[in-house]
Amino acid sequence: MQSDKEYEDDASPEEYVALCNFTGSGTDQLSFSGGDSLRVHAKNSAEWWWAELHGVKGYVPASYLGHGVPEGDDTSPEDPWQDEEYFGSYGTLRLHLEMLSDKSRTEAYRQVILSNSASLRNKVVMDLGCGTGVISLFCAQLAQPSAVYAVEASSMAEYTRQLVKQNGCEEVVTVHQARAEEIQLSEQVDVLVSEWMGNCLLFEFMVESVLLARDRWLREGGVMWPSSAALVLVPCQADSYYAEKMAFWERPYGLDFTPLQPLAQQEFFTKPKFSHLIQPDDCLATPCDAICLDMYTLQVKDLEEMKGQFHFCVAKPGVLHGFTAWFTVHFQSLERGGAPVELNTGPNSEPTHWKQTLFMLDRPVSVQTGDLVGGSIVLRRNPIWRRHMTVTLHWTINNSKEEQDSCQVGTKTFPMWR
Ligand code: SAH
Repeated sequence: MQSDKEYEDDASPEEYVALCNFTGSGTDQLSFSGGDSLRVHAKNSAEWWWAELHGVKGYVPASYLGHGVPEGDDTSPEDPWQDEEYFGSYGTLRLHLEMLSDKSRTEAYRQVILSNSASLRNKVVMDLGCGTGVISLFCAQLAQPSAVYAVEASSMAEYTRQLVKQNGCEEVVTVHQARAEEIQLSEQVDVLVSEWMGNCLLFEFMVESVLLARDRWLREGGVMWPSSAALVLVPCQADSYYAEKMAFWERPYGLDFTPLQPLAQQEFFTKPKFSHLIQPDDCLATPCDAICLDMYTLQVKDLEEMKGQFHFCVAKPGVLHGFTAWFTVHFQSLERGGAPVELNTGPNSEPTHWKQTLFMLDRPVSVQTGDLVGGSIVLRRNPIWRRHMTVTLHWTINNSKEEQDSCQVGTKTFPMWR
């Protein structure tokens, strides 16, 4: 969101109703409560609208507003979790092939089981979202748990049963084709293992299912794998992406196409770029953990809004095109003095199928060694579409070496995807 623009009022504002509460940040965002009637004057972008409440104007997140409906009607969509689409996609092989082909990911889980095999003896394990059952099979083959409950909601579970049998693990591994939220087990579990991470760590919010299962099924003192997670951020260059999508319009075939640049910005830089592979060289500073999650204490309600701070000291001169995010997770060891296993999806590790996520600024900023880039990141879960979120970056760039101190400030909100 560009906060420095003033918008002409529309002659005929549209009436909307707030679907839930929203607390605006800064002076240019409105705060409102679910049920409030707002008048929308301008739809400046897909995400932020210029609206009025009780005579006060400000920006409001478009996804929080709906058209008023007669009382008693349900304003929420039929399936805010989009489970049909979500579990439908996990019922086919495409995603499982992608995940299983990702060696760093899969080997990290294998390593966790292997390096804890002695401690897993006679333990009860839940593998939440087992997919093809790969983690459950590692458990059964590399350790001697007394039972592994492999829970999978998609239709892949039918095949997982066959795979368990085919690999001779049916004595230990039981496949439950159900949503983890709905399963019934005869006992609590010692270990809850799951591969729930999405783009920017939280996207798709499978983590909610993991937290609910933890609270219901993990015995007192039981172990969570992963045990902690961090969203990592770095200010970065993205020369070739910028050249391909934005600089391109400067002089194609000797023609001045720059009037298309605002459109290009809207089309290519509004949403984050998934599947970005940042070169270590494009990192302008040492990455930092902006948001850290403790899988034992994290609560479902905390997921609504996750905030983090960052402070970077620019390590070399360059052009700041944006910020790149990725995540790390850690698996605590059950063995006395054992080292935790880390799965790191950043640019200094083997690429994973998550790759990294690039957030482009609207305008690149030249930076010098020693410049300070500070700010905050807020992951705001979509109140309606529960697997989606927006990422708001707020940054300040201080250049203290120039003749006169300069300071640039910016804010931008990126939908993922709504
Ligand atoms: N553990 C497998 C698959 C990981 S992908 C592997 O490592 O290869 C996540 C899986 O969790 C998908 O198959 C998805 O269908 C399943 N899943 C997501 N949410 C779930 C829930 N609430 N209950 C059961 N399964 C779920």
